[in-house]
Amino acid sequence: MGFERCRQQMVDKQLKRRGILDYGILEAMGKVPRHRFVPPELTLSAYHDGPLSIGKGQTISQPYMVALMTECLELEGKEKILEIGTGSGYQTAILAELAKKIFTIEIHKCLSDKARGLLTDIGYKNIEFRIGDGSKGWEEEAPFHGIIVTAGAPEIPVSLMEQLIDGGRLVVPVGARSLQTLYKITKQGDSFNKKEFTSCVFVPLLGEYGWKEN
Ligand code: SAH
Repeated sequence: MGFERCRQQMVDKQLKRRGILDYGILEAMGKVPRHRFVPPELTLSAYHDGPLSIGKGQTISQPYMVALMTECLELEGKEKILEIGTGSGYQTAILAELAKKIFTIEIHKCLSDKARGLLTDIGYKNIEFRIGDGSKGWEEEAPFHGIIVTAGAPEIPVSLMEQLIDGGRLVVPVGARSLQTLYKITKQGDSFNKKEFTSCVFVPLLGEYGWKEN
């Protein structure tokens, strides 16, 4: 089966059937070549229903999780978005398809460099890359309409809540190192509305507002 058909099956079976209805997300995930974001030896597994290893002990998230987290951001196309954990750059590509400008931070230089090369090669021009501790956010560029954390945090990073615009959304997995709950936090004036989604398993968010390295 060709990659385009694999991708369409992924959209139909893994996303639509599980209730992802946002047309823009389905279209973006039907378009972005996920197989280019995984190591060469995993190319044939790129459209499988799960996360995959991308080196440095890190993973590219399950397609459904990418779709669900993107849906939580409620994108309309005009937003400025911050992503913590560039990883393979796949989630970054989906965001770049659906929002105006993406700021993405990765703690591992080699992953950031690789993702930057690939995303530039595919042709994205609305992404800014940074190497460093994203748990602190990106203060010079704040505030953001949406912030997405693609690694598991021990608690909701206050630093990131502070970098949201009024009405902005923070999507973050929070919990133990080995199992988290996905939260969507919406800033409403001086308060924050917290909604709980599914259980999930992400690699740990490191850094000042994350887990301290072993
Ligand atoms: N969105 C990525 C997911 C990668 S896994 C994808 O779909 O490919 C999470 C990533 O977060 C890893 O690459 C890890 O190195 C990175 N990470 C962990 N803690 C971080 C921090 N404090 N700042 C930036 N990146 C971090």
